[in-house]
Amino acid sequence: AIPLVVAINTSLAAKNGMLVRDRIAMEQARELDTVVFDKTGTLTRGEHGVVGIATVDGVDETDALGLAAAVEGDSEHMIARAIRHAAVERGVAPPAATDFEALKGRGVRATVDGQEVYVGGPNLLDRLDVTVPDDLATFAEDAGENARTVVYLLRDGDLVGAFAMADVIREESNAVVDALHDLGIEVAMLTGDSRAVAHAVADELGIDTVFAEVLPEDKDKRIRQLQDEGKLVGMVGDGVNDAPALARADVGIAIGSGTDVAVQSADVILVRNNPMDVVRLVKLSTASYRKMQ
Ligand code: ADP
Ligand code: MG
Repeated sequence: AIPLVVAINTSLAAKNGMLVRDRIAMEQARELDTVVFDKTGTLTRGEHGVVGIATVDGVDETDALGLAAAVEGDSEHMIARAIRHAAVERGVAPPAATDFEALKGRGVRATVDGQEVYVGGPNLLDRLDVTVPDDLATFAEDAGENARTVVYLLRDGDLVGAFAMADVIREESNAVVDALHDLGIEVAMLTGDSRAVAHAVADELGIDTVFAEVLPEDKDKRIRQLQDEGKLVGMVGDGVNDAPALARADVGIAIGSGTDVAVQSADVILVRNNPMDVVRLVKLSTASYRKMQ
C-alpha cells in the first residue's frame, strides 16, 4: 500500500518561526538519526571577550593588542570584533594597516609599518609551519583547559603574542541536547575551533560526537562521513562557513540572524534564533507526516 502522508501545514510552521524552503527535507526531519550543530554562535552565543593576553619577552601587551586590532580591522569574524573591542576598552589606538587578507578558517593577515602581521588560531600556525614558544604554550594550554579560544599574533614570521577569548554557552543548549536525546537523536558538534575548546563545550552539554579544527572547506565532508555510515543527518548553523555543510545535510537548518549564504543553503530557516526550535521542528515534522492507515 502507498502510505498517505498529511501535508505539512506551512502556516503552522511559520507560526512557529520556521520558514520551510524544502518540503521533502521538512518531511525527513522526523527520521533524523543525527543532528550536527555548529559551535560558535549556535551552541554558544558567539560573543567573545578577550580574557587574557600573553607576549614574548620584549613585547608590550598593549602594543600586541593594538597590532592585532589593526590586522583585524577589516574582518567581520566574532574573534575580530572581540579583539577590536578589547583595544577600544583599554584605550589602545591601532596603528594603520593595509593589504588585508582573510584566510578562511585560519585567521587574517595585513601589512603594518612594512611588517607582515598575522592573527589566527592553530590552523594558521600549521599553515605557516610555526611552533609555539614555551612561555606561550603554557598560556595556551591553560586557556584550552578553561575552554578559551586562543589566537596568536605573528610579526614578520615571529610568534610574539597570544590572546585568550571566552565565549558563553547559550542557556538553551543543554535542554536542546537533552530533548534530542529523548527523541532518540544523536548530537554532534562541528567547529573550526580547537579540540580543547570543542571538547570542553561538548562535555558540558553531553554531546556525543565532536569534529574540531575542521577547515571551512572540509565541513561538508564530516556530514558526508555520517551519511556514509547510513545516517540521516541534520545540520544547524548560521555562518558563511556552514553553508556547504547545510547544503550537504539531509536537513539543513539555518538559525537566527544567519548570513545570506547560510540561509540560501538551508532547507529550513529558524527565524527566532532559538536552538530549541530544532526540537520543535522534529516534533512538527512527526505530527504533520504521520503515516495514515
Ligand atoms: P567556527 O567553526 O567556530 O565558526 P571558523 O571556521 O570561523 O570557526 O574559524 C576557525 C578558527 O580560525 C577560529 O577558531 C580561529 O582560530 C581562526 N580564525 C578565523 N577567523 C579569524 C580571525 N578573523 N581572527 C583570528 N582567528 C581567526
Ligand atoms: Mg557559527
